[in-house]
Amino acid sequence: EDKPLYRGRFAPSPTGPLHFGSLVAAVGSFLEARSRSGEWLVRMEDLDLPRTVPGAADDILRTLDAFGLHWDGVVMVQSARNEAYRAALDELEKLGAAYPCACTRKEIADSAISGIDGPVYPGICRAGLPEGRAPRAVRVRTDLTPVGFEDALQGHISQILESEVGDFVVRRADGLFAYQIAVVVDDAEQAITHIVRGADLLDSTPRQIYLQKLLSLPTPSYLHLPVAVNERGEKLSKQTLAPAVNMVNSVAQLCEALAFLNQAPPAELKEADLDDFWKWAIAHWRADKLPAVREMVLSGGKALA
Ligand code: GLU
Repeated sequence: EDKPLYRGRFAPSPTGPLHFGSLVAAVGSFLEARSRSGEWLVRMEDLDLPRTVPGAADDILRTLDAFGLHWDGVVMVQSARNEAYRAALDELEKLGAAYPCACTRKEIADSAISGIDGPVYPGICRAGLPEGRAPRAVRVRTDLTPVGFEDALQGHISQILESEVGDFVVRRADGLFAYQIAVVVDDAEQAITHIVRGADLLDSTPRQIYLQKLLSLPTPSYLHLPVAVNERGEKLSKQTLAPAVNMVNSVAQLCEALAFLNQAPPAELKEADLDDFWKWAIAHWRADKLPAVREMVLSGGKALA
């Protein structure tokens, strides 16, 4: 079987309906794939059961379909993939790269310095569990070698995981596998060559590349799109109660997503039907016009009207 030259993906978490922020990520990854005659897959990241909203996965898929964001192949569903994550964790343990951790959130907060993504784990359980303590989570051992990559939009990104992030959790205290390991296993399983997603995940990428190296998996190329934030600098998300995209004026909302991505859609494109919209968008997609910033303010929610 020939390997595709370009295979991208959109990997929503079904914690609510699609909103403008996730629409931007869907449109950006779709157009980057289709404009390069690539494949575009969808993966439902319903791993975080406590945050999963019943019905949201179906709702997201129906919305993508109604917006003409048609995917290739079958949708991969993370909740059905525990065996694959367990095998990856076994391999990390065999390599001596993972260890059990007994620390509670509070114990970590009390002794940790803050890092790029929360407290840097102070290494309490690195050399073994303290006397009489039971394992809760599983962590991956990090080191001081910089992990860097060239983001196609954001430029060179590098982190020293041990000092900036710390040994990170791959299996949570509640027994669930963590996003960082699941995404790496699944991107490899789906043979994803190019990842286009929101820049809120930029700081996770070195952890993912680190896991790819440990597990001898290929590293895809990355492009992190600007994330839409409100005037208070909060990411438009389910948490900030961003309104769902609505099914009624899909083309107008797609035009707003294109405008956000600096693709300068002509005003009359709003009146086009879905087919003509996508024809225009694929033909005129210019990755070199994307704003090379991590976030952009979406003023007044006008894109959502
Ligand atoms: N499921 C993640 C989210 O919705 C995205 C993961 C990814 O694109 O790597 O934030």
